[in-house]
Amino acid sequence: MKLGKFSIGTGDRFSHQGVAQLRAIVKANQSGLDISPVWNKSNREHIYVHSQPTDVRIEADAAVKALGFKGKYFVDADHINLGNVAPFVETADFFTLDVASFIGKESKPEDITAFVASCEKYIGKLEIPGFEQPIVVTVDLLKKIAADFLAATEQASEIYKYLKAAKGEGNFITEVSMDEVEKPQTPIVLLFILKMLADKGVPAQTIAPKFTGRFNKGVDYTGNVDQFAKEFEEDVLVIDYAVKEFGLPEELKLSIHSGSDKFSIYPVMAHVIKKYNKGLHVKTAGTTWLEEVIGLAVAGGEGLVAAKYIYAHSLGRKDELCAPYADVIDIDDSKLPSVEEVNTWSSEKYANTLRHIPGHPDYNPNFRQLVHVAYKVAAEMGANYTNLLEKYSDVIGNCVEENIYERHLKRLFNL
Ligand SMILES: [Zn+2]
Repeated sequence: MKLGKFSIGTGDRFSHQGVAQLRAIVKANQSGLDISPVWNKSNREHIYVHSQPTDVRIEADAAVKALGFKGKYFVDADHINLGNVAPFVETADFFTLDVASFIGKESKPEDITAFVASCEKYIGKLEIPGFEQPIVVTVDLLKKIAADFLAATEQASEIYKYLKAAKGEGNFITEVSMDEVEKPQTPIVLLFILKMLADKGVPAQTIAPKFTGRFNKGVDYTGNVDQFAKEFEEDVLVIDYAVKEFGLPEELKLSIHSGSDKFSIYPVMAHVIKKYNKGLHVKTAGTTWLEEVIGLAVAGGEGLVAAKYIYAHSLGRKDELCAPYADVIDIDDSKLPSVEEVNTWSSEKYANTLRHIPGHPDYNPNFRQLVHVAYKVAAEMGANYTNLLEKYSDVIGNCVEENIYERHLKRLFNL
Protein backbone atom coordinates (compact mmCIF):
# COMPACT_ATOMS: atom_id res chain seq x y z
CA MET A 1 0.00 0.00 0.00
CA LYS A 2 1.40 3.34 -1.05
CA LEU A 3 0.32 6.73 0.15
CA GLY A 4 0.82 8.80 -3.00
CA LYS A 5 2.67 12.05 -3.45
CA PHE A 6 0.28 14.52 -1.82
CA SER A 7 -1.97 13.74 1.07
CA ILE A 8 -3.84 15.76 3.60
CA GLY A 9 -4.94 14.73 7.04
CA THR A 10 -8.40 15.99 7.79
CA GLY A 11 -9.34 15.07 11.30
CA ASP A 12 -12.99 15.40 12.20
CA ARG A 13 -13.78 15.28 15.89
CA PHE A 14 -17.51 14.57 15.63
CA SER A 15 -17.44 12.54 12.39
CA HIS A 16 -20.09 14.63 10.61
CA GLN A 17 -18.04 16.54 8.02
CA GLY A 18 -16.46 13.80 5.93
CA VAL A 19 -18.38 14.74 2.79
CA ALA A 20 -17.68 18.46 3.14
CA GLN A 21 -13.98 17.77 3.71
CA LEU A 22 -13.82 15.49 0.70
CA ARG A 23 -15.60 18.12 -1.45
CA ALA A 24 -12.68 20.47 -0.79
CA ILE A 25 -10.15 17.84 -1.90
CA VAL A 26 -12.17 16.95 -4.99
CA LYS A 27 -12.25 20.65 -5.89
CA ALA A 28 -8.46 20.91 -5.56
CA ASN A 29 -7.95 17.72 -7.57
CA GLN A 30 -9.99 19.23 -10.42
CA SER A 31 -6.95 21.36 -11.16
CA GLY A 32 -4.90 18.26 -11.97
CA LEU A 33 -3.59 17.38 -8.51
CA ASP A 34 -4.03 13.97 -6.93
CA ILE A 35 -4.33 14.69 -3.22
CA SER A 36 -5.33 11.74 -1.07
CA PRO A 37 -7.56 12.44 1.91
CA VAL A 38 -6.52 10.85 5.19
CA TRP A 39 -9.02 10.86 8.01
CA ASN A 40 -6.92 10.94 11.15
CA LYS A 41 -8.04 10.67 14.74
CA SER A 42 -5.97 10.09 17.83
CA ASN A 43 -6.77 7.94 20.80
CA ARG A 44 -6.99 11.13 22.89
CA GLU A 45 -9.71 12.56 20.64
CA HIS A 46 -11.66 9.32 20.72
CA ILE A 47 -11.60 9.38 24.51
CA TYR A 48 -12.82 13.01 24.71
CA VAL A 49 -15.66 12.64 22.25
CA HIS A 50 -16.51 9.02 23.14
CA SER A 51 -16.09 7.79 19.58
CA GLN A 52 -14.63 4.51 18.33
CA PRO A 53 -11.94 3.92 15.70
CA THR A 54 -14.52 2.19 13.53
CA ASP A 55 -16.56 5.45 13.36
CA VAL A 56 -13.77 7.05 11.34
CA ARG A 57 -13.77 4.19 8.82
CA ILE A 58 -17.56 4.42 8.49
CA GLU A 59 -17.34 8.18 7.95
CA ALA A 60 -14.55 7.91 5.36
CA ASP A 61 -16.22 5.12 3.39
CA ALA A 62 -19.54 6.96 3.42
CA ALA A 63 -18.00 10.23 2.20
CA VAL A 64 -16.13 8.46 -0.61
CA LYS A 65 -19.30 6.66 -1.66
CA ALA A 66 -21.45 9.78 -1.48
CA LEU A 67 -19.16 11.71 -3.82
CA GLY A 68 -18.11 8.76 -5.98
CA PHE A 69 -14.48 9.59 -5.15
CA LYS A 70 -12.17 7.37 -7.18
CA GLY A 71 -8.79 8.26 -5.66
CA LYS A 72 -6.93 6.66 -2.81
CA TYR A 73 -7.99 7.49 0.73
CA PHE A 74 -6.89 6.37 4.16
CA VAL A 75 -7.90 6.14 7.81
CA ASP A 76 -5.10 7.14 10.16
CA ALA A 77 -4.73 5.84 13.71
CA ASP A 78 -3.04 9.03 14.79
CA HIS A 79 -0.44 9.16 17.56
CA ILE A 80 -0.86 5.57 18.66
CA ASN A 81 1.51 3.49 20.75
CA LEU A 82 1.81 -0.17 21.66
CA GLY A 83 -0.57 0.32 24.59
CA ASN A 84 -3.51 1.70 22.62
CA VAL A 85 -3.10 0.51 19.03
CA ALA A 86 -5.20 -2.68 19.26
CA PRO A 87 -8.68 -1.13 18.75
CA PHE A 88 -7.43 0.61 15.57
CA VAL A 89 -6.01 -2.45 13.87
CA GLU A 90 -9.11 -3.58 12.04
CA THR A 91 -10.35 -0.31 10.59
CA ALA A 92 -7.25 1.85 10.08
CA ASP A 93 -4.81 1.45 7.22
CA PHE A 94 -2.46 4.28 8.18
CA PHE A 95 -0.71 4.22 11.55
CA THR A 96 1.14 7.12 13.13
CA LEU A 97 3.58 5.50 15.52
CA ASP A 98 4.18 8.08 18.23
CA VAL A 99 7.49 7.31 19.87
CA ALA A 100 8.18 10.78 21.29
CA SER A 101 7.97 9.55 24.88
CA PHE A 102 10.86 7.15 24.20
CA ILE A 103 13.27 9.89 23.14
CA GLY A 104 16.20 9.86 25.56
CA LYS A 105 15.25 6.52 27.14
CA GLU A 106 18.32 4.49 27.95
CA SER A 107 19.78 2.11 25.39
CA LYS A 108 22.32 -0.64 25.94
CA PRO A 109 25.90 0.67 25.64
CA GLU A 110 26.68 -2.11 23.14
CA ASP A 111 23.76 -0.97 20.94
CA ILE A 112 25.12 2.58 20.94
CA THR A 113 28.59 1.32 20.07
CA ALA A 114 27.20 -0.84 17.28
CA PHE A 115 25.23 2.05 15.83
CA VAL A 116 28.22 4.38 15.87
CA ALA A 117 30.33 1.68 14.21
CA SER A 118 27.70 1.21 11.49
CA CYS A 119 28.00 4.93 10.66
CA GLU A 120 31.73 4.93 10.14
CA LYS A 121 31.58 5.88 6.48
CA TYR A 122 29.63 9.07 7.33
CA ILE A 123 32.18 10.39 9.84
CA GLY A 124 33.94 13.53 8.73
CA LYS A 125 32.54 15.94 6.17
CA LEU A 126 29.38 14.44 4.73
CA GLU A 127 28.08 15.86 1.47
CA ILE A 128 24.30 15.80 1.17
CA PRO A 129 23.33 16.79 -2.38
CA GLY A 130 21.69 20.22 -2.34
CA PHE A 131 23.23 21.34 0.98
CA GLU A 132 25.23 24.55 0.79
CA GLN A 133 27.90 23.12 3.09
CA PRO A 134 28.87 19.56 3.95
CA ILE A 135 27.67 18.47 7.39
CA VAL A 136 30.26 17.58 9.99
CA VAL A 137 29.68 14.18 11.57
CA THR A 138 31.71 13.24 14.63
CA VAL A 139 31.75 10.17 16.85
CA ASP A 140 30.46 12.28 19.73
CA LEU A 141 27.54 13.51 17.65
CA LEU A 142 26.66 9.97 16.64
CA LYS A 143 26.84 8.79 20.26
CA LYS A 144 24.54 11.61 21.32
CA ILE A 145 22.01 10.89 18.57
CA ALA A 146 22.11 7.19 19.41
CA ALA A 147 21.59 7.89 23.12
CA ASP A 148 18.63 10.13 22.27
CA PHE A 149 16.93 8.11 19.55
CA LEU A 150 17.84 4.42 19.58
CA ALA A 151 15.15 3.57 22.12
CA ALA A 152 12.52 5.62 20.25
CA THR A 153 13.28 3.98 16.92
CA GLU A 154 13.37 0.58 18.63
CA GLN A 155 9.88 1.31 19.91
CA ALA A 156 8.75 2.24 16.38
CA SER A 157 10.07 -1.13 15.27
CA GLU A 158 8.13 -2.92 18.04
CA ILE A 159 4.85 -1.25 17.03
CA TYR A 160 5.56 -1.90 13.36
CA LYS A 161 6.20 -5.60 14.04
CA TYR A 162 2.95 -5.83 15.96
CA LEU A 163 1.04 -4.26 13.05
CA LYS A 164 2.80 -6.40 10.47
CA ALA A 165 1.72 -9.52 12.35
CA ALA A 166 -1.82 -8.24 12.81
CA LYS A 167 -2.49 -6.77 9.35
CA GLY A 168 0.05 -8.38 7.07
CA GLU A 169 3.06 -6.77 5.48
CA GLY A 170 2.28 -4.10 2.92
CA ASN A 171 -1.34 -3.67 3.98
CA PHE A 172 -0.91 -0.37 5.78
CA ILE A 173 1.00 2.90 5.72
CA THR A 174 3.57 3.54 8.44
CA GLU A 175 4.28 7.01 9.79
CA VAL A 176 6.74 7.68 12.60
CA SER A 177 6.11 10.79 14.68
CA MET A 178 8.33 12.57 17.16
CA ASP A 179 6.74 15.99 16.88
CA GLU A 180 5.09 16.34 20.25
CA VAL A 181 8.25 17.31 22.11
CA GLU A 182 9.93 20.51 23.20
CA LYS A 183 13.20 20.18 21.36
CA PRO A 184 13.33 20.22 17.55
CA GLN A 185 15.15 17.55 15.60
CA THR A 186 17.65 19.12 13.23
CA PRO A 187 18.15 17.79 9.68
CA ILE A 188 21.37 15.97 10.74
CA VAL A 189 19.54 14.28 13.58
CA LEU A 190 16.71 13.36 11.20
CA LEU A 191 19.23 11.75 8.86
CA PHE A 192 20.44 9.35 11.53
CA ILE A 193 16.94 8.69 12.85
CA LEU A 194 16.10 7.54 9.34
CA LYS A 195 19.14 5.28 9.32
CA MET A 196 17.98 3.70 12.58
CA LEU A 197 14.51 3.12 11.15
CA ALA A 198 16.01 1.56 8.04
CA ASP A 199 18.34 -0.62 10.13
CA LYS A 200 15.37 -1.86 12.14
CA GLY A 201 13.26 -2.57 9.06
CA VAL A 202 10.57 0.08 9.64
CA PRO A 203 9.29 1.00 6.15
CA ALA A 204 8.18 4.52 7.05
CA GLN A 205 6.40 6.37 4.25
CA THR A 206 6.02 9.53 6.30
CA ILE A 207 8.05 11.00 9.13
CA ALA A 208 6.91 13.78 11.44
CA PRO A 209 9.84 15.54 13.10
CA LYS A 210 9.56 18.42 15.50
CA PHE A 211 10.45 21.65 13.71
CA THR A 212 11.80 24.86 15.14
CA GLY A 213 9.13 27.33 16.18
CA ARG A 214 5.76 26.95 17.81
CA PHE A 215 2.94 25.06 16.15
CA ASN A 216 0.09 26.31 18.28
CA LYS A 217 -3.29 24.79 17.68
CA GLY A 218 -5.48 26.45 15.08
CA VAL A 219 -3.42 29.61 14.69
CA ASP A 220 -0.46 30.68 12.59
CA TYR A 221 3.18 29.61 13.01
CA THR A 222 5.14 31.48 15.65
CA GLY A 223 8.85 31.57 14.95
CA ASN A 224 11.45 32.52 12.41
CA VAL A 225 10.05 31.72 8.96
CA ASP A 226 13.48 31.90 7.28
CA GLN A 227 14.87 29.40 9.74
CA PHE A 228 11.88 27.13 9.19
CA ALA A 229 12.43 27.42 5.42
CA LYS A 230 16.07 26.33 5.73
CA GLU A 231 15.23 23.47 8.06
CA PHE A 232 12.33 22.26 5.91
CA GLU A 233 14.42 22.35 2.74
CA GLU A 234 17.29 20.49 4.41
CA ASP A 235 14.87 17.88 5.76
CA VAL A 236 13.56 17.31 2.23
CA LEU A 237 17.14 16.86 0.98
CA VAL A 238 18.04 14.57 3.89
CA ILE A 239 15.04 12.36 3.13
CA ASP A 240 16.02 12.16 -0.52
CA TYR A 241 19.53 11.11 0.50
CA ALA A 242 18.29 8.65 3.14
CA VAL A 243 15.94 6.92 0.70
CA LYS A 244 18.82 6.21 -1.67
CA GLU A 245 21.49 5.59 0.94
CA PHE A 246 19.56 3.48 3.46
CA GLY A 247 16.99 1.86 1.17
CA LEU A 248 13.88 3.37 2.74
CA PRO A 249 10.62 3.43 0.71
CA GLU A 250 10.96 5.84 -2.18
CA GLU A 251 7.61 7.40 -1.24
CA LEU A 252 9.05 8.59 2.08
CA LYS A 253 8.07 12.21 2.70
CA LEU A 254 7.64 14.70 5.48
CA SER A 255 4.48 14.76 7.52
CA ILE A 256 3.74 18.15 8.97
CA HIS A 257 1.65 17.95 12.10
CA SER A 258 0.59 21.49 11.55
CA GLY A 259 -1.92 21.89 14.35
CA SER A 260 -3.68 23.65 11.45
CA ASP A 261 -3.46 27.08 9.92
CA LYS A 262 0.30 27.55 9.58
CA PHE A 263 -0.46 29.99 6.80
CA SER A 264 2.86 31.85 6.93
CA ILE A 265 4.88 28.68 6.27
CA TYR A 266 2.52 27.11 3.71
CA PRO A 267 4.09 29.06 0.82
CA VAL A 268 7.56 28.02 2.03
CA MET A 269 6.58 24.35 1.93
CA ALA A 270 4.83 24.80 -1.43
CA HIS A 271 7.98 26.36 -2.89
CA VAL A 272 10.36 23.67 -1.62
CA ILE A 273 8.30 20.65 -2.63
CA LYS A 274 7.84 22.15 -6.09
CA LYS A 275 11.54 22.96 -6.39
CA TYR A 276 12.55 19.34 -5.72
CA ASN A 277 9.40 17.70 -7.09
CA LYS A 278 8.69 16.02 -3.73
CA GLY A 279 5.59 14.89 -1.92
CA LEU A 280 4.10 16.13 1.33
CA HIS A 281 1.64 15.06 3.98
CA VAL A 282 -0.01 17.77 6.06
CA LYS A 283 -2.27 17.07 9.00
CA THR A 284 -4.73 19.90 9.56
CA ALA A 285 -6.76 18.12 12.19
CA GLY A 286 -8.86 20.16 14.50
CA THR A 287 -10.04 23.19 12.58
CA THR A 288 -13.01 21.35 11.13
CA TRP A 289 -14.42 21.50 14.63
CA LEU A 290 -13.94 25.27 14.68
CA GLU A 291 -15.76 25.53 11.35
CA GLU A 292 -18.67 23.72 12.99
CA VAL A 293 -18.83 26.40 15.66
CA ILE A 294 -18.47 29.13 13.02
CA GLY A 295 -21.24 27.49 10.99
CA LEU A 296 -23.50 27.33 14.04
CA ALA A 297 -22.87 31.02 14.69
CA VAL A 298 -23.54 31.92 11.06
CA ALA A 299 -26.75 29.87 11.04
CA GLY A 300 -28.14 32.02 13.88
CA GLY A 301 -31.09 30.93 16.02
CA GLU A 302 -30.36 27.83 18.08
CA GLY A 303 -27.00 27.56 16.34
CA LEU A 304 -25.80 30.92 17.61
CA VAL A 305 -27.14 30.12 21.07
CA ALA A 306 -25.08 26.90 21.06
CA ALA A 307 -21.95 28.71 19.86
CA LYS A 308 -22.31 31.18 22.75
CA TYR A 309 -22.97 28.35 25.20
CA ILE A 310 -19.75 26.65 24.09
CA TYR A 311 -17.73 29.81 24.68
CA ALA A 312 -19.34 30.49 28.06
CA HIS A 313 -18.57 26.98 29.23
CA SER A 314 -15.06 26.98 27.87
CA LEU A 315 -14.13 30.26 29.54
CA GLY A 316 -15.33 28.92 32.88
CA ARG A 317 -13.25 25.74 32.46
CA LYS A 318 -10.26 27.26 30.74
CA ASP A 319 -7.54 25.70 32.90
CA GLU A 320 -8.98 22.22 32.69
CA LEU A 321 -9.50 22.39 28.90
CA CYS A 322 -6.10 23.88 28.20
CA ALA A 323 -4.10 21.54 30.44
CA PRO A 324 -3.60 18.70 27.92
CA TYR A 325 -2.51 21.26 25.30
CA ALA A 326 -0.22 23.38 27.47
CA ASP A 327 2.70 23.10 25.02
CA VAL A 328 0.70 24.00 21.95
CA ILE A 329 -1.46 26.95 22.93
CA ASP A 330 -0.65 30.51 23.95
CA ILE A 331 -3.69 32.36 25.20
CA ASP A 332 -3.50 35.93 26.48
CA ASP A 333 -6.29 35.97 29.08
CA SER A 334 -6.52 39.74 28.97
CA LYS A 335 -7.63 39.51 25.34
CA LEU A 336 -10.44 37.03 25.93
CA PRO A 337 -13.87 38.68 25.73
CA SER A 338 -16.22 38.27 28.68
CA VAL A 339 -19.20 35.93 28.44
CA GLU A 340 -21.53 38.95 28.80
CA GLU A 341 -19.90 40.61 25.83
CA VAL A 342 -20.00 37.51 23.62
CA ASN A 343 -23.66 37.03 24.49
CA THR A 344 -24.42 40.36 22.80
CA TRP A 345 -22.63 39.39 19.57
CA SER A 346 -24.34 38.95 16.22
CA SER A 347 -23.74 35.89 14.04
CA GLU A 348 -21.32 37.89 11.96
CA LYS A 349 -19.33 39.23 14.89
CA TYR A 350 -18.98 35.77 16.45
CA ALA A 351 -17.95 34.12 13.17
CA ASN A 352 -15.48 36.89 12.28
CA THR A 353 -13.85 36.66 15.71
CA LEU A 354 -13.38 32.90 15.42
CA ARG A 355 -12.61 32.52 11.71
CA HIS A 356 -8.92 32.65 10.85
CA ILE A 357 -8.63 35.49 8.37
CA PRO A 358 -5.25 37.09 9.11
CA GLY A 359 -5.63 40.85 9.38
CA HIS A 360 -9.41 40.82 9.80
CA PRO A 361 -10.19 43.44 12.46
CA ASP A 362 -12.46 41.07 14.43
CA TYR A 363 -10.18 38.01 14.32
CA ASN A 364 -9.04 37.05 17.83
CA PRO A 365 -6.47 34.21 18.06
CA ASN A 366 -6.97 33.96 21.83
CA PHE A 367 -10.69 33.37 21.42
CA ARG A 368 -9.93 30.90 18.62
CA GLN A 369 -7.43 28.85 20.64
CA LEU A 370 -9.76 28.60 23.59
CA VAL A 371 -12.65 27.39 21.45
CA HIS A 372 -10.24 25.01 19.74
CA VAL A 373 -9.58 23.10 22.95
CA ALA A 374 -13.23 23.30 24.00
CA TYR A 375 -14.51 20.39 21.92
CA LYS A 376 -14.95 18.52 25.18
CA VAL A 377 -17.78 20.97 26.02
CA ALA A 378 -19.52 20.10 22.74
CA ALA A 379 -18.91 16.39 23.37
CA GLU A 380 -20.66 16.75 26.71
CA MET A 381 -23.67 18.34 24.97
CA GLY A 382 -24.10 14.94 23.29
CA ALA A 383 -27.06 14.75 20.92
CA ASN A 384 -27.92 18.39 21.60
CA TYR A 385 -24.74 19.24 19.73
CA THR A 386 -24.82 16.63 16.97
CA ASN A 387 -28.52 17.32 16.27
CA LEU A 388 -27.56 20.92 15.58
CA LEU A 389 -24.81 19.73 13.24
CA GLU A 390 -27.48 17.91 11.31
CA LYS A 391 -30.03 20.72 11.46
CA TYR A 392 -27.52 23.24 10.08
CA SER A 393 -25.50 20.82 7.96
CA ASP A 394 -25.66 22.95 4.80
CA VAL A 395 -24.25 26.10 6.38
CA ILE A 396 -21.66 24.17 8.39
CA GLY A 397 -20.63 22.01 5.43
CA ASN A 398 -19.98 25.13 3.37
CA CYS A 399 -17.77 26.54 6.14
CA VAL A 400 -15.80 23.27 6.39
CA GLU A 401 -15.29 23.04 2.64
CA GLU A 402 -14.34 26.69 2.27
CA ASN A 403 -11.84 26.45 5.11
CA ILE A 404 -10.00 23.43 3.71
CA TYR A 405 -10.06 24.60 0.12
CA GLU A 406 -9.64 28.38 0.37
CA ARG A 407 -7.38 28.68 3.38
CA HIS A 408 -5.40 25.45 3.30
CA LEU A 409 -5.24 23.72 -0.09
CA LYS A 410 -4.99 26.93 -2.10
CA ARG A 411 -2.00 28.06 -0.08
CA LEU A 412 -0.33 24.66 0.08
CA PHE A 413 -0.62 23.86 -3.60
CA ASN A 414 -0.56 27.33 -5.19
CA LEU A 415 -4.10 26.96 -6.51
ZN1 LIG B 1 1.32 15.36 15.94
